[in-house]
Amino acid sequence: MSTYWVAQDVINVKPRCRDTGNNCIHDVGDADLRPLQKTDVYINTSKYYYTHMVTQEMIKKIPKVELHDHLDGSVLPQTIIELAEKYKVELPENNADALAKWFQRGSDRKSLALYLEGFSVTLSVMQTEEALERIAYEHLVTHSKENVVYSEIRFAPILNQQKGLNLEAVVAAVLKGLERGKSETGVDFGLILCAMRDQDMKISLEIAELAVAFRDRGVVGFDIAGDENGHPPKKHLDAFQFIRNRNFNITIHAGEAFGIESIWQALQICGAHRIGHATRLIEDITFQGTRIEKMGSLANFIRDKRVPMEICLSSNVQTGATKNFDEHPFHVFYRNGFRVFLCTDNRLMSNTSLTKEMEIAVKHYNLNLRDLEKLTLNAMKSAFIHHDDRIRIIYDIIKPGFAKLRNETNPNG
Ligand SMILES: [Zn+2]
Repeated sequence: MSTYWVAQDVINVKPRCRDTGNNCIHDVGDADLRPLQKTDVYINTSKYYYTHMVTQEMIKKIPKVELHDHLDGSVLPQTIIELAEKYKVELPENNADALAKWFQRGSDRKSLALYLEGFSVTLSVMQTEEALERIAYEHLVTHSKENVVYSEIRFAPILNQQKGLNLEAVVAAVLKGLERGKSETGVDFGLILCAMRDQDMKISLEIAELAVAFRDRGVVGFDIAGDENGHPPKKHLDAFQFIRNRNFNITIHAGEAFGIESIWQALQICGAHRIGHATRLIEDITFQGTRIEKMGSLANFIRDKRVPMEICLSSNVQTGATKNFDEHPFHVFYRNGFRVFLCTDNRLMSNTSLTKEMEIAVKHYNLNLRDLEKLTLNAMKSAFIHHDDRIRIIYDIIKPGFAKLRNETNPNG
């Protein structure tokens, strides 16, 4: 087991409470702590839980929230092999480990277009109701193993029609698998239907209608995915307008392979309620270290309006949206009050899990347990299920989960 220590000069910083000016802890929302300043007191305060080291063991136990996770990017390698055998599909590798590595090699080529190539292989075994039900079920079981308590899973049903399934049957099969997973594991879920950027706008409208038709059966939102380059989201305005007219939820992949124009369009033209990635919003910000010197109007708007940003660290490094973890703008966003949280994007393609993403964040950005709790609350507040359900999960599951962890770590604290 490896242990990540938060750098000494950071763990001992405890910003003064904005209200009292003292070093107190209180349970507040998004804007509780101002960014760290040079004048902040440095105290050796081991009794405060968030100055503790964060171990892998602790990260595993954290109640997690996943909001950006593609079903076809997260299939278990052994399942792909078994289904390929059944459906007589040829695979690039026939051993689970070798196949997993094949996907991961393919993803790590610093290009979103190349990253997306592996999906044709997973999709080749996702063309029957039986396969879709199994994969969805296993997906939620995988989540439960790392203590995910709420998960929003997304997929593009139009890509599961190679053997003639109709769209309703595709969505129903996935929901059936997720329901079975939920009743077995207790993991709550919401399903997001994706349209593809490079497809015709008639198809995206059809998917939007499908999402709304299934809103009472577990579908919680609509997304547009695929290669950003040359495929602006505004091409699909009819779909977004339909969703908005029906008071439904929109998240849009933007600011990954393309810059701030794409994020602006997603928000101001298409009406997105969350942004998938938003990595390149950093192009609208001038900063030194994690200190912001100047922000453009888009970055200000996103922070002011608390627009949720679904951050996928590993995936971003693999697609080349950012050079490496240390240069990833997550740290600038997080330390300056943006509504960010961690997501996996594609567990198979990116060889990751929420546990791994949290480990990366602890290691590269000196996050502590309190930071991980804040990120988890950011995510849950941004979920597409209704407000009362979000509150229930926050107060019945997430907060007690973190309280228990604090207690285990420091029973006298
Ligand atoms: Zn994605």
